[in-house]
Amino acid sequence: MNIAILSRGPGLYSTQSLLIAGQRRGHRMFLIDYMDCSIGLERNRPMVYYKEEAINYLHAIIPRIGASGTQHGSAVVQQFEMMGVYSVLSADALLKARNKLRSLQLLSKSGIRFPRTVFGNFHEHADYLVESVGGIPVIIKLLSGTHGLGVILAEDERTAESIIEAFQKLKEGIIVQEYIQEAGGEDIRAFVIGEEIVASMKRKALPGEFRSNLHRGGSASKINLTAAEVFTAKEAVRILGLKVAGVDMLQSHRGPLLIEVNPSPGLEGIEETTGIDIAGQVIALIEKEAVKNKV
Ligand code: ADP
Repeated sequence: MNIAILSRGPGLYSTQSLLIAGQRRGHRMFLIDYMDCSIGLERNRPMVYYKEEAINYLHAIIPRIGASGTQHGSAVVQQFEMMGVYSVLSADALLKARNKLRSLQLLSKSGIRFPRTVFGNFHEHADYLVESVGGIPVIIKLLSGTHGLGVILAEDERTAESIIEAFQKLKEGIIVQEYIQEAGGEDIRAFVIGEEIVASMKRKALPGEFRSNLHRGGSASKINLTAAEVFTAKEAVRILGLKVAGVDMLQSHRGPLLIEVNPSPGLEGIEETTGIDIAGQVIALIEKEAVKNKV
């Protein structure tokens, strides 16, 4: 098959890992920077162009869309979908998962638990936002944040209120969330491909830090998930319509609490920690789905 990885970083670990896995399985692999793609809108002839070349030879795409490229990237993915190209990530699912608030709203109707969370425009009543998630300490999250940047722990009321007021003045969307102290600076990443969890790891924050992101210096180790964690991860991915995703959860006294579903999860940490060939399994999913969809 002709498979393209839509990525801005040809040298990134995840991009290289997918490229090599595809070639090893006998596919023709292409690397396309989605920011250099344009879209041709013509009746009954959807087309994607890379610089000036029409991309009409692909059977499948693997979108690796960074947070800042979500808008352009999702338009390119949508266009490939209109052309009948199989995508491991639909434009709809990408947009849903990228919006922290929207995805929690969609998940809140299912049996999935997450930390008490509130969203609102009450900068004159910031104390109300803090109280409504159970009081201090609270987590304040920028809706546009990634890699742990824009996730703040406020340990007293005055600090929480000033941060909320400042962000709301800047017109930055935020959510206020209950701080899950017993998670102890650790979280769990479950990696889902298709309908199965193929790997999982626990990430631990550096001493004195509560954010366990590997980008923030966290360390990772392999773990086995509980039945409740498996349920949460699979259900979240199903509801958001994702086929490849990283589901992040906190371990709490009430069981697993979902914090985020990542539609373009990095492969480096999880492949190195678990020794599992995740990239090979992504290509295997494409092979299986392509047969089903007669690509
Ligand atoms: P990002 O998308 O920027 O990674 P997350 O919402 O995943 O933001 O939060 C980053 C990290 O902060 C998580 O991996 C977790 O370790 C910690 N964290 C996030 N929310 C909470 C919370 N409500 N209580 C305790 N720790 C949290």
